[in-house]
Amino acid sequence: MPESRHVAIIGAGAIGVISAIEALREGHRVTLIDAGTPGGEQAASYGNAGWLSSHSVIPPAEPGVWKKVPGYLIDPLGPLAIRWSYLPKALPWLIKYLLSGWTEARVETTAFALRDLLKDAPLLHRKLAEEAGVPELVERNGVMHVFPSRGNFDNDLGWRLRKKVGVQWMELNADEMRQREPDLHPRYTFGVVVEEAGRCRDPGAYVAALAQHALANGVKFVQAKAIGLKLSGNKLVAVRTETGEIACDAAVVAAGAHSKKLTASVGDPLPLETERGYHVMIENPEIGPRSSIMASDAKMVVNWTDKGLRAAGTVEIAGLEAAPNWKRAEILRNHLLSMFPKLPKDIPASRIKTWFGHRPSMPDGRPCIGYARASRDIVYAFGHGHIGLVSSARTGRLVAQLLSGKPPEISLAPFSPSRFL
Ligand SMILES: Cc1cc2nc3c(=O)[nH]c(=O)nc-3n(C[C@H](O)[C@H](O)[C@H](O)COP(=O)(O)OP(=O)(O)OC[C@H]3O[C@@H](n4cnc5c(N)ncnc54)[C@H](O)[C@@H]3O)c2cc1C
Repeated sequence: MPESRHVAIIGAGAIGVISAIEALREGHRVTLIDAGTPGGEQAASYGNAGWLSSHSVIPPAEPGVWKKVPGYLIDPLGPLAIRWSYLPKALPWLIKYLLSGWTEARVETTAFALRDLLKDAPLLHRKLAEEAGVPELVERNGVMHVFPSRGNFDNDLGWRLRKKVGVQWMELNADEMRQREPDLHPRYTFGVVVEEAGRCRDPGAYVAALAQHALANGVKFVQAKAIGLKLSGNKLVAVRTETGEIACDAAVVAAGAHSKKLTASVGDPLPLETERGYHVMIENPEIGPRSSIMASDAKMVVNWTDKGLRAAGTVEIAGLEAAPNWKRAEILRNHLLSMFPKLPKDIPASRIKTWFGHRPSMPDGRPCIGYARASRDIVYAFGHGHIGLVSSARTGRLVAQLLSGKPPEISLAPFSPSRFL
């Protein structure tokens, strides 16, 4: 394999931008291609909850989840909703999703794999943020999970598996939680603090700053929509875009939830689906949490960002094209107001911002990181689902190692695209 190559990276979300920085570090020449702007609102990397949670090792599907599917179909505003009109298209992915979480053993295999991918992630992000001149955007002060009762926590398979993979935490009773979070609704009586985790104060600004840093160090940015990859035999010769071809020796597909058509263009039909998520943000809120909090009942994260108090989460299966259902963002706002009763109920609309975006999700909750079947000149790096921000730091390093033909720093077997082919 040649030492230095011209690498075209498709997608300038967290995964693509950090891959660009790491590929440059390996001595490659890099062109970053995106239809929008790096860190822009079109990317999931812009509007996520900002958790750098190295303990997020539990995939979305767990044993018994199939029992909840009728509820997902009936309630369009529930924490997980499937649109009826999209059900036929989503069905093959949904079946794989349910099967991947059918047994505890399968979930455990994924938990161990994700732990490998996520270990040290807050530290890796902090180093990247320092390198890009924005250290203040990455904090490593831990995050908190809150539960209506200890029973909700004790009965959770996820926390049992987290212990098994080596995650440590501190448990708080109602009084201890109240001392830490005096404004939190008293219905939460049990809390868990994971001190190893971190948070990002503004994911969009972070990705934009990393992209600026990459450009300042020689990465070239091309604003264009990629429509395919051009091979000559098993050698990659160009990325095809709507405005022409970009000649290159290697390419990385990091187009998030939009990666499916690109992999199909080189003969890899992969089960990538969008798990659509929303956020609501209150600018200059009167009060809020001291730490960053995940509420187990609302299935959402509340995080201070530099732009305001953000509540983000929930899942909607409705494909890439359907219009957003903004009522889902309203539900997040209502949860936020109920979690923090001292927030005024009449916050003017001008101070409330909403957003929706596409989590790029594989059915088993593990990303695809590996070579295309057609050519080792093509590296896949997408499908990071709920953990694409936190896992982007190590993913970028792995991508660079694959591009250079070096052994990857962790086993990539659990993330191999061929597990679906
Ligand atoms: C509500 C919500 C909350 C979340 N919370 C967290 C969290 O707290 N922590 C966490 O780790 N993760 C979280 N996530 C998940 C995380 O945001 C994603 O997994 C991650 O951002 C995916 O990054 P990416 O770079 O793969 O994709 P994206 O950020 O979506 O970037 C893909 C880029 O590719 C570009 N693109 C697409 N198609 C093409 C094309 N054909 N040609 C050129 N460019 C193209 C797009 O314009 C975009 O810029 C959350 C997601 C959501 C929706």
